[in-house]
Amino acid sequence: MKVSIIGTGYVGLVTGACFAEVGHDVVCVDVDRDKVDRINRGETPIYEVGLEDLLRRHVGKRLRATTDLRAAILASEVTFIAVGTPFDGEHIDLTYIRQAARDIGAALRDKREYHVVVVKSTVVPGTTDDVVRPVLEEASAKRAGVDFGVGMNPEFLTEGVAVGDFMEPDRIVIGGIDERATDVLAQLYASFPNVPVIRTNNKTAEMVKYTSNAVLAALISFSNEIGNLCAQLGGVDVVDVMRGVHAARYFTTPLKDGGSAVAPITSFLYAGCGFGGSCLPKDVKALVAHGEAAGQPMPLLDTVIKINSRQPQKIIEILERNFASLDGLRVCVLGLAFKPDTDDMRESPAIPIVRELLARGAVVSAFDPVAMEAARRVLPAERVRFMENLQSALQEIDAAVLVTSWEIFREIPDIVRKIEPPPLIVDGRRMLEKRLVARYAGIGL
Ligand code: NAD
Repeated sequence: MKVSIIGTGYVGLVTGACFAEVGHDVVCVDVDRDKVDRINRGETPIYEVGLEDLLRRHVGKRLRATTDLRAAILASEVTFIAVGTPFDGEHIDLTYIRQAARDIGAALRDKREYHVVVVKSTVVPGTTDDVVRPVLEEASAKRAGVDFGVGMNPEFLTEGVAVGDFMEPDRIVIGGIDERATDVLAQLYASFPNVPVIRTNNKTAEMVKYTSNAVLAALISFSNEIGNLCAQLGGVDVVDVMRGVHAARYFTTPLKDGGSAVAPITSFLYAGCGFGGSCLPKDVKALVAHGEAAGQPMPLLDTVIKINSRQPQKIIEILERNFASLDGLRVCVLGLAFKPDTDDMRESPAIPIVRELLARGAVVSAFDPVAMEAARRVLPAERVRFMENLQSALQEIDAAVLVTSWEIFREIPDIVRKIEPPPLIVDGRRMLEKRLVARYAGIGL
């Protein structure tokens, strides 16, 4: 099928490249000319495992990028809106969504054939029907359900493994105003025959996405609250506590061959220095604000956010317990991306940690295997020394704080063993074996 995608960020570009991979003809649209040019050269503007391979295979054939939205709409049958939906401090900001809908609507004015417009961005329940649909109708002077269809198809990809997630989805949620619209979407996903498809209305599709994110955020903040109590009580380590919890039958299933299968959900039941990224924080905040506006406050999720925003401070408190003063203390922040396998710095706990360390007069250095360039743009780069590799990052410091659980950080115990006197390692992800590190501290310990 002929597909256009508005917005070539993480979601838009991965979706476009993967649709090309399964045989569709895709045109990606962005207002950012630089991104468009890079994509057309086969370069990916973001770091995602497998994405560059897909671009190399399909750019110039089944995949191209353009800034000409109108031409893209006229040349396609289905259009996905994959622009950003940030949180403006109070509510979800639908500026980009409205603009994209207006531009698509204007192009649809000149289109004779039936067209389906699908919202892929994460939007609060009701947005597709109550905001996108009327804007499309007004701008196109056409009627939804007659001249064009409107659908909602939330995206569940995880940054870092986005291509893998898209190519092997666990579910496909298809919302639409009517069967005609959802049929087109179902046809588009026909190359994933064994994946459960949930066909529903737009509002439910929107709600599925928020609920999926909110439950993960809630489990993380729950684990952090337990971890913080463990640390306060003393003599109890949250890692051991969670090992006991994970062993329960509903998390770990005994297998007939004597082994066991651990449920992936347990990876959200670990204490750490908080969640970040472009989705969980903003989506939970947007849902809470939406509930408030709808007359249904959401105190549980409100607290999930509050616990999370305080969690990076726990790293500072650990340093305070271990050193007389942070003023002049040489601290290296290990891991800057909000999670491993991505260069995305959005809402990374590393940002408040670096800022607070600088505010307290610490001498701050930093290392991340992938996100150094992105970090220079969001951190006060002139006040942070960016290190070339893990080995050099660990030399001549008083403490290292581990913020992102990159696999390479498992080498820390071996490197630190040869350093005299060894720095304090503050494990913000509890990924190292504490007995292997001479001076070890961590969240929930
Ligand atoms: P992003 O900020 O990386 O990309 C958005 C892109 O849209 C930018 O390149 C921007 O230039 C472009 N854009 C904005 N307005 C435009 C317009 N009018 N015409 C053309 N291009 C326009 O965003 P993202 O991370 O890809 O997220 C997009 C949406 O998907 C958000 O709603 C987000 O919540 C949701 N989502 C994100 C993820 C994720 O892991 N990043 C996962 C699932 C869902």
